[in-house]
Amino acid sequence: MSAMKKPYPLHLTLMLLLSPVFVSAQTTRPEAERKLAHDIYKEFVEIQSGFTTGATTPVAEAAAARLRAAGFSEFDVFVGGASPKKANLVVRYHGTGALKPILLLAHIDVVEAKREDWSMDPFQFLEQDGFFYGRGTGDDKAQAAIWIANLIQYKKEGFTPDRDIIVALTADEEGGGPYNGVGWLLKNHRELIDSEFALNEGGWGEESKGKKISNDLQISEKYVVNFRLEVRNKGGHSSMPVADNAIYRLAAALQRLSNFGFPLKTNEVTAAYFQAMAKIETGSRKEDLANASKGSQEAMQRLAAASPAWNATLRTTCVATLLEGGHAVNALPQLAAATVNCRVLPEDSVEFVHTTLQKVVADDEVSVRILGDPAPGPASALRPDVLAAVSHATESLWPGVPVVPIMVMGATDGKALRIAGIPTYGIQGIFFDRDDIRFHGRDERVGVQSFYEGHAFLYELVKSLSKPGPMAHSNGR
Ligand SMILES: [Zn+2]
Repeated sequence: MSAMKKPYPLHLTLMLLLSPVFVSAQTTRPEAERKLAHDIYKEFVEIQSGFTTGATTPVAEAAAARLRAAGFSEFDVFVGGASPKKANLVVRYHGTGALKPILLLAHIDVVEAKREDWSMDPFQFLEQDGFFYGRGTGDDKAQAAIWIANLIQYKKEGFTPDRDIIVALTADEEGGGPYNGVGWLLKNHRELIDSEFALNEGGWGEESKGKKISNDLQISEKYVVNFRLEVRNKGGHSSMPVADNAIYRLAAALQRLSNFGFPLKTNEVTAAYFQAMAKIETGSRKEDLANASKGSQEAMQRLAAASPAWNATLRTTCVATLLEGGHAVNALPQLAAATVNCRVLPEDSVEFVHTTLQKVVADDEVSVRILGDPAPGPASALRPDVLAAVSHATESLWPGVPVVPIMVMGATDGKALRIAGIPTYGIQGIFFDRDDIRFHGRDERVGVQSFYEGHAFLYELVKSLSKPGPMAHSNGR
């Protein structure tokens, strides 16, 4: 839907031709700063950094070169990682040391993208019809570029924070393989990223029909546990069936699972989420949302029935995803097995989910085994200073838009940090149409205005979190 197809009055056409970056200056940083952020963003997006076909090292090096050119000391810029192609960048901006550092995280690898799947070259940064297109524009190179651009700006201003500001641009969040940058840094160079808390991807602004609905602040994530349900049987010839059949036993167990729901409940984060949603929602759900936040089982039941996303927010879920069994068309099955994928609330233990599944299966012949070595992901505490700073920056840019604390169903690098004792908050202030999220998909894009507003938002947010008190807002827009 190109706006350019409509005949424009001449002066508008000229304006569009003359100024490709068509941003409202009210909620953005000055033009020189926008240009720097744009140029870094473009540079990052045009470097292929997919797990199999690319490398993160050139992105880390490009960032390092920008920082050195801006006067950062060699000692404060680290480039290194688990393999020569999978480097991370860590840079430290020194504060007075009155407070423990803040860590600003963004991953610089991207999901693979094929030219033939896209309407344009995914590795060419394209500005068109008010959007920046390219793989990684949303996930997560906008935030990576903004962290670097703002750090350079702080230096230019001579800003002295009360704490060190550390930016880490890391490898292989998407791949999750052996080269994950956050895992590698925690294990090998914890001192480089050790901090009081971290800001990361995972929370963005939600827009609907061009209207800003909420600025999401991600506090926690569900974690994944996979189980294998298995039935073994001596089998036999299919011409003489017996009652004890591996496939039937497994099917019956899965049937019981399909009828089961884990207890409905809220925690600190999801109660705050439903409370905020109750203020946003205008329809008949308003009351249920408010009551769910206060623990009403009836309200939670209605919400869970109304929306798979609310259901997943209110409980641990387990669902069969893979099935195998039998070995010949004319033999009684000796094996029937299913994989069950569970998305577990941070406060539910692996052991709780395991014993619950055994009770639901209710058949000693069906074994229920944990696959792999799952690690629970704790929630970050709802820190009042973070919530206050996010709310203040949100209110100053977008008056009336509420901050909504969320728990997400997917996983980010924030989980590894939380396990390591570094509370991590997903916050971007970059707004996306909630019905048109293109992360990992084709024609990934970010609105031009949204990018520059996120740039301004994170500029303010990090400043106020690293210099609390009345000074925090004196150096604003
Ligand atoms: Zn991401």
